[in-house]
Amino acid sequence: MRQVSELNISAFLKQKIEDFSVAPVEFVRGTVTTSGDGVVRVKDLPRRLYGELLEFDGGVMGMALDLDENGAGAVLFDSADEVKVGDGVRGTGAVAEIPVGNNVLGRVLDPIGRALDGAPFEPERYYPVERPAPTVTDRRPVDKPMQTGILAIDSMIPIGRGQRELIIGDRQTGKTTIAVDSILNQKETGVICVYCAIGQKASTVAQVIKTLENGGAMAYTAVVAATASDSPAMQYLAPYSACSIAEYFMEQGRDVLIVYDDLSKHAVAYRTISLLLHRPPGREAYPGDVFYLHSRLLERSACLSRGRGGGSLTALPIVETMENNISAFIPTNVISITDGQIYLESELFHSGVRPAVNTGLSVSRVGRAAQTNAMKKVSGTLRIDLSQYREMAVFARFGSDVDPATKKLLDKGEGLVNLFKQGKSSPYPLSRQVLLLLAYSQDMFTGVGEKAFPAYLARFLAFLSEQCADLCEVIDETGDLPDDVKTKAEERFKAFGRQA
Ligand code: ATP
Ligand code: MG
Repeated sequence: MRQVSELNISAFLKQKIEDFSVAPVEFVRGTVTTSGDGVVRVKDLPRRLYGELLEFDGGVMGMALDLDENGAGAVLFDSADEVKVGDGVRGTGAVAEIPVGNNVLGRVLDPIGRALDGAPFEPERYYPVERPAPTVTDRRPVDKPMQTGILAIDSMIPIGRGQRELIIGDRQTGKTTIAVDSILNQKETGVICVYCAIGQKASTVAQVIKTLENGGAMAYTAVVAATASDSPAMQYLAPYSACSIAEYFMEQGRDVLIVYDDLSKHAVAYRTISLLLHRPPGREAYPGDVFYLHSRLLERSACLSRGRGGGSLTALPIVETMENNISAFIPTNVISITDGQIYLESELFHSGVRPAVNTGLSVSRVGRAAQTNAMKKVSGTLRIDLSQYREMAVFARFGSDVDPATKKLLDKGEGLVNLFKQGKSSPYPLSRQVLLLLAYSQDMFTGVGEKAFPAYLARFLAFLSEQCADLCEVIDETGDLPDDVKTKAEERFKAFGRQA
């Protein structure tokens, strides 16, 4: 019996070996003519695709970016020193791809899909890195809020699901913190997040990942990272790869939030590539198509129509300015592509107003369409209050005596400025935001004083959790502030005021 089965197996194997054939793969082999700084030119390699992956002798991979009749200019992903003049190269016929699917959540990938976090990774399926944006008919208007948990932003510069809101400011003004806090705030909302780090120090990226892990956010977040030590080609690809990962979830009908941190470094990486490829430099030495670089990326954010599954992709691109100059080339480009900006100012940041949002220069072009009813009811006059306060405060600085009405306005305004100060990694849920603003309108924060404010606010938040839990629940569940809830809240605030 045993012998028979062994015979069968050997016959089976013999048959297999006899039938085995390999179809010849036809490819043209080109030659490297110049190589330096991660950019190579190749000849005798006609009919290439734009963005096609090229394989060099020794297995080094690159991407064709400049096509001519007989060859191409290409950038290398890594091991730039290993490609020499005269080396062979072949076109793979495929463009760059990135793994997508549920198993990328919680992972840290590089822009061509290799896991950077050390654990084994089995890709399920791939999407090309560059994909066309949804068309006009595929979209519907933005109408749902994307809560960041930051009071100053959710009340005055509301962001909608499917919107692109730029975070812009000098270095070290809390740009990354706002973006990361927004990701932390998506816990239990069902929103998927993607954080894309471009050209940052590896230690900074590690810090962000740690913050996300500590906040329990990696369960619904994927990270795509090309650090400052990676090749310009990797940095150039990173946001497109991250966007493809996000698009996969959007097409599954999910709401997705993506952070590009940051696009100034992305533009610089592209400038490096373009100059090395000898493309003509334009303003600030950027190539002529640098606008297209970011517009084709940010156009991929969308709020899809019901017919396309109803998912959405909200983008928070970050741009770093020099000396608060928002009229430089890249900032103006990205401002004109996005639906609004959150402008952070270093003077505010250093004077202790954190998040350092300049409300005068920050806008959201989707605005109130993407706010809950509850928030609409309490946030109506905040911007005017704040600008009136700032105007008055300038005069009051001269030390002149002010009349009681002005004094009250100043005290109330100061209370609002203090209320908007919010530590990092401590987002407020909707109910707290609404009740805090209601309390502000009831003059609960007027005349508290800057020094005593943090302790007072902590006491007030504890009071909200203990005494107003029922009201919070109604607000969080319905997104509305019914009149009876409002009256009850106001009564309880009065009781708190008497204790204080
Ligand atoms: P870079 O230009 O280096 O990327 P950035 O603008 O992204 O900087 P962050 O890294 O977010 O700025 O923040 C700079 C510093 O300010 C960090 O040390 C951070 O902890 C601190 N910080 C930011 N926001 C707040 C806040 N709301 N409260 C307290 N500290 C904050
Ligand atoms: Mg940063």
